[in-house]
Amino acid sequence: MKVNISRILPEKGASMDIDLSEPLQPLQPDAPSRQDGLDGELRYAEPVRVVATADNSGKCIVVRGRVGTKIEATCHRCLERFSREISAPFEEEYFRKGEKPRHTGVEEEQAPSESEGPDLRYFHGDEIDLAPAVGEALSLALPIKLLCREDCRGLCPHCGTNLNEKQCDCQIETPDPRMAVLKDLWREKRD
Ligand SMILES: [Zn+2]
Ligand SMILES: [Zn+2]
Repeated sequence: MKVNISRILPEKGASMDIDLSEPLQPLQPDAPSRQDGLDGELRYAEPVRVVATADNSGKCIVVRGRVGTKIEATCHRCLERFSREISAPFEEEYFRKGEKPRHTGVEEEQAPSESEGPDLRYFHGDEIDLAPAVGEALSLALPIKLLCREDCRGLCPHCGTNLNEKQCDCQIETPDPRMAVLKDLWREKRD
């Protein structure tokens, strides 16, 4: 997911449009909330699209826009496969690093050193690789729980029926004990 910025590199204030679509693998999630065994099921069903502008601020290259794709995943509740469009805002600053200064509007000495800011992003030569930051932006756009729909009813814990498709009889046979307590209270009040 590389963008050639040689056109805007020599001149502070120069800007260019970015519009690209490339296949990308979802980041290996490491958040505890995703250690649910369903991680491997997530994939990007379409190439990831990046629509943005790159500006030479004189200090760094600022890339600002949106990223999006279609995800395919397994619903956390009903275990059905589903797909959905996701998109996220994208804004990153890329500092020049590495090579001996060429004729460039982005001055190397102005870039903070790596020890000062380990989280800063860099570019080498005249190319920016957007993939890592785009991957992170998309990961952040994912909901904590991947659900086929907000109100997915899931599977019956007793018989495994997909409750989105039909209602089973288990609810009636095994009432929630907390509800039973409430019913008793209600009855006492009335008596
Ligand atoms: Zn579901
Ligand atoms: Zn059931």
